[in-house]
Amino acid sequence: MKTTKNVAWLIALLKARYPDAICSLESRDALQLLIATRLSAQCTDARVNVVTPALFAAFPTLDAFVEAQPEDVLPYIRSCGFFNTKSKDIVAMCRMIKETYGGRVPDTMEALIALPGVGRKTANLILGDVYGKPAVVTDTHCIRISNRLGLCKTEDPYKVELALREILPPEESNNFCHRLVLFGRDVCTARAPKCTECPLLALCPWGKKAAGKK
Ligand code: SF4
Repeated sequence: MKTTKNVAWLIALLKARYPDAICSLESRDALQLLIATRLSAQCTDARVNVVTPALFAAFPTLDAFVEAQPEDVLPYIRSCGFFNTKSKDIVAMCRMIKETYGGRVPDTMEALIALPGVGRKTANLILGDVYGKPAVVTDTHCIRISNRLGLCKTEDPYKVELALREILPPEESNNFCHRLVLFGRDVCTARAPKCTECPLLALCPWGKKAAGKK
C-alpha cells in the first residue's frame, strides 16, 4: 500500500480519528519527559504517570537528581520494573546533562543516544515532542501496525524507523507515530485487532486477509 496517495490517505484517516496526537506520558518539561520515557521501558505509560508526580515532587530540578544517589530515586520508581538499572540511568543521565550539556537536554540524536539508558526511541520522542524536529518513535504499536499495513517488513525498530522516514512527510511523522499508539490500543490491538470495523481496512493487506477468513 506504499503509494504516496495511500500514505496521504492513511495519514488523513488517522488524523480524523485522533485529532489530538499527544504523547500519553505526562511531563512538564524536556527533562521530565526524558525521565518518564526512560521509566516507560517494559512498563505501561499509565503506570509511569502514576509514579512520576511523587518522583518529580521529591526531585523537582535537574540539580536534585544530580545530587541524588540511585538508591534515593529507587523507591519512587519500584513499580515500573527494572528499578535498579532505571534509577542508575536516571541519575547518570542527569549528571551528564549537567556536566556535558550545561544543564539542557540536548537536541540532537547523537547527543541524546550518548546519555545513559537512552536509545533511539526515547531520543526520537524528545526530538519530536520537545524540539519539533522530524521524529519517528518506533514503539511496539508502531512496529506491529506498520507491518500489518505493509509499510515495512521487519520487527527491527531501527529498520522500521528508516522505512517510515522514507514514506512519511517529515512534518507528519511524529504525530503519525503518536496516533499509531492510540490506534494500537483502541483498534489494531496485538491479539484481537478489530479489522472488520477498522477505518484503515481498505489500505491494509493483513486486515483484508484476516477479515476474508472470517
Ligand atoms: Fe489493524 Fe486490522 Fe485495521 Fe489492518 S485492518 S490496521 S490489521 S485493525
